[in-house]
Amino acid sequence: MSPRPLIGCATYQKRIQQREPIEIIGLMPTYIQAVRAAGGLPVLIPLGLDEQELGALLQRVDGVLLPGGGDVAPAAYGGDEQATTIRDVDTRRDEAEFALVRHAVDGEKPLLAICRGLQLFNVALGGSLWEDVAESMPGAIPHDFFGQYQRDYLAHPVTIAGDSRLAEALQSNGTIGVNSLHHQGIRRLAPGLVPVAWAPDGLVEAVEYPDHPFALGVQWHPENLLQVEPQMRLLFRAFVQAAGG
Ligand code: MN
Repeated sequence: MSPRPLIGCATYQKRIQQREPIEIIGLMPTYIQAVRAAGGLPVLIPLGLDEQELGALLQRVDGVLLPGGGDVAPAAYGGDEQATTIRDVDTRRDEAEFALVRHAVDGEKPLLAICRGLQLFNVALGGSLWEDVAESMPGAIPHDFFGQYQRDYLAHPVTIAGDSRLAEALQSNGTIGVNSLHHQGIRRLAPGLVPVAWAPDGLVEAVEYPDHPFALGVQWHPENLLQVEPQMRLLFRAFVQAAGG
């Protein structure tokens, strides 16, 4: 039996309140469970590594997962740095994940980018974002279902391009319901990326990098939908399979 593929998962840093505030580096456990359920062995990639260390680490993992999180700094895509809707920016995290994308794309390492991950993937390759979809994008439907909704609430449909790796992975080229836990979105698609799913308002909800074994980003959170939309398991399965599982 071949060893289970190692899936390197990017992390965030957060201040939590113990007896006094302390900094922790971590990841929501739903990502870890989704990778495990698909046959992968997750390993966390801590913040604080330099580019050389990230490159060395990337040579040893079989795939890279970019999870959700706060906003990419607008300066990275020529956006409005004064926008009042920007939240939870961490430029150190941005830089680490840009490096991970470069290594994954250049090294043909399977990449699954989720929510913020998709946005960062797009910015890393030269695209831009809406600082706030509801405020800026003409004709936008609601996408920001934080707070009063469960994370597996199916907020809107997406239409999946028939001739895509995503359709192949999900075994569906029609319309599926997805959760929507984002307030930003792709404004200008990066050169080289191909859109493969759209919300009813036209917002790009999934992208792929062609001529790569598996480099895919989704704007929704499939790791929260394993129960209500079991076909999302197939997406993780396709990712782990591309990583050798
Ligand atoms: Mn959405």
